[in-house]
Amino acid sequence: MTNPQTVLKETFGYTNFRPGQEEVIKKVLNGENVLAVMPTGAGKSICYQVPALINEGVTLVISPLISLMKDQIDSLHQNGIEAAALNSTTPQKEVNPILRQAYEGKIKLLYLTPERLAMDYFRYQLNFLDISLVAVDEAHCISQWGHDFRPAYRQILEGINSLRQRPNILALTATATPNVQADIAKQLDIPQQNFVITSFARPNLSFQLVNSPKNTDMYIYNYINAHQEEPGIIYTNTRKKVEALTDFLCKKGIKAVSYHGGMNNKERSRVQDDFQFDRTQVIVATNAFGMGIDKSNVRFVVHANSSSNIESYYQEAGRAGRDGSACEAVMLYHPGDSATYRWFIDQSEAEDEYKKTQYSKLAVITQYANTEDCLQQFIVRYFGQDCPPCGKCSNCLDQRKLEDVTTQAKKVIAMVYELDGRFGKSVVAQAVTGSKSQRMKEIGAQMLEHYGSLKLPQTEVNSLINYLITKDLLETTNDQYPLVRVTNSGWDVLDGKLQVFRRSQGKIVAHREFDQQ
Ligand code: ADP
Ligand code: ZN
Repeated sequence: MTNPQTVLKETFGYTNFRPGQEEVIKKVLNGENVLAVMPTGAGKSICYQVPALINEGVTLVISPLISLMKDQIDSLHQNGIEAAALNSTTPQKEVNPILRQAYEGKIKLLYLTPERLAMDYFRYQLNFLDISLVAVDEAHCISQWGHDFRPAYRQILEGINSLRQRPNILALTATATPNVQADIAKQLDIPQQNFVITSFARPNLSFQLVNSPKNTDMYIYNYINAHQEEPGIIYTNTRKKVEALTDFLCKKGIKAVSYHGGMNNKERSRVQDDFQFDRTQVIVATNAFGMGIDKSNVRFVVHANSSSNIESYYQEAGRAGRDGSACEAVMLYHPGDSATYRWFIDQSEAEDEYKKTQYSKLAVITQYANTEDCLQQFIVRYFGQDCPPCGKCSNCLDQRKLEDVTTQAKKVIAMVYELDGRFGKSVVAQAVTGSKSQRMKEIGAQMLEHYGSLKLPQTEVNSLINYLITKDLLETTNDQYPLVRVTNSGWDVLDGKLQVFRRSQGKIVAHREFDQQ
């Protein structure tokens, strides 16, 4: 049998395996089912491409996106490897010739969408092939707990089981919480000892969080100006905002282009090339941009709005610094962001159970935006690992003094208790600040003991509520209109057993420089 190291060197031109790759490849060549969880850019493809070349027969790669397949196949061809794809864009008359080539051993990797594998006749045709391995890329799509559920992924195991000869399975993903890992394993029959999980931490990436910038466009302009000549990606959440921001930046003399799902393929690949080959400095995009892009020297990823979940955020932010050099991931958070995403979720046609999961993911990103702990650590813990504070994110570098806010916190928590967990954040904030709104009259808030007990602007109280949620002193339900409740630790605060500290609420100094008009 050819040695994996030799294949890596002679076919791909790399001297050493990256963390996790060799372990995955060994297990795969041993005929075991494996789950590989590695961050974006870690080199997951090599984990099945090397075995594909060593094994007899053909490797099937299940992949969710046609554009992703195309990029992979192009790069395999460049390395002199025969590969092909079968998806909804493949003309019917090309299907049989491709299968024949695979049958004759001329194609080593065959990329498929999960929908294709679900087709009965296609399953029957696959029986003529000698299939050594099924690689399931973006395996989190199999799980309802994930952020990108794709129903056809659920039928993959059934498809594999229907084959006369059962190949082994390699599931790969960059973003799987322990919940999602367990779900993937259950559905693809992967034993726990075959989980290969490399560190989620990205030591060359420094995370920055900017809460409520005065003027988002100006902030981004100043930021880019301070990073001249450095390629970067700006993500925002609607096509309209993408175009408006590109316009704004171009008028100010920045080389920026737009990228979103409303553009045709030709425009999109032109823009992608411009960015790839440094003809433009900045690409302003919706989340349609990114899968399959392989630009290693992206120096910053700025999110003009928060994301809808940590998985997507980390995947997008992780497109910076694939070359291993220092880079930044900046998230600009506005209190209204959550409401926008809540609306997106509510409008979607997903099942209620799935929506609930998405609401709870949204709650976590709000916590991320309000935490005072290390941002890298927050993310790594979310994925079920741990790491020491990074020492360079905006929270680690935050020099503001800690203040005792126990008195204010008590008033807010007491108000939540008095409202009996039946209302959302904004009612709590109005009640505790003594708002005279109609809503307060409707619910008789004036009768409550802590009505008007906190003499602070409502926006500050909103931010304090978010902070208390981050600290697990309050919690919210996973609904379209989340209700706020008191947690056990919240009770400890009311009982005087726990104090609450928070950084003094001036702006973080390091961000001032970009926040000027
Ligand atoms: P992922 O799918 O994990 O996001 P890719 O498989 O696209 O990552 O790999 C990211 C980049 O790293 C690619 O350009 C790939 O060629 C490169 N790469 C993968 N493995 C190695 C290695 N062992 N040494 C050097 N470069 C590698
Ligand atoms: Zn940190």
